[in-house]
Amino acid sequence: MDTIRIKDKTFAVSIKEEDILKEVERVADAINRDLTGKNPLFLCVLNGSFMFASDLMKRISIPCEISFVKLASYQGVSSTGVIKEVIGLNEDISGRTVVIVEDIVDTGLTMQRLLETLGTRNPAEIHIATLLVKPDKLQVELDIEYAAMQIPNDFIVGYGLDYDGFGRNYKDIYTLV
Ligand code: 5GP
Repeated sequence: MDTIRIKDKTFAVSIKEEDILKEVERVADAINRDLTGKNPLFLCVLNGSFMFASDLMKRISIPCEISFVKLASYQGVSSTGVIKEVIGLNEDISGRTVVIVEDIVDTGLTMQRLLETLGTRNPAEIHIATLLVKPDKLQVELDIEYAAMQIPNDFIVGYGLDYDGFGRNYKDIYTLV
């Protein structure tokens, strides 16, 4: 499928699954290399990161734990930058090496708030792994060590990302036309 229609909008395929997976593999290799011996806790941010998290975790070969948190900051096609709530963080992360697994860093405000929230629970270190970054939109300074891909300032869906709840199921990434 070269184009898809979701509600009032048309999206054209922009990154194919095989290209996504090559970059996911590269990120997994780097994490396996860098975090050996640290028994990291991967905190996957739902809903958007579920496909990335699945493909990434299948390629992580070091001992680790995986957990999921949920937060909401996005409505329609522009970020509000407001986190409503962080739900589901039941683990004790004090002294742990934590890796946040996100779908996309846009303004970076969501990630910044998440880092602040986690930081109050005394983790040993926090790393960021994200499928996508929009460097032109970043408003805050973030040390994003593990980014699979950078994209221009466009709105995308697919591979876990949605438009108004739809489109998460596509295996490729599509850009708003
Ligand atoms: P930020 O706080 O960095 O501006 O926004 C981060 C969140 O906004 C992401 O976790 C994601 O849910 C949403 N987001 C940002 N850009 C896009 C996009 O292009 N497509 C979709 N579907 N969601 C996006």
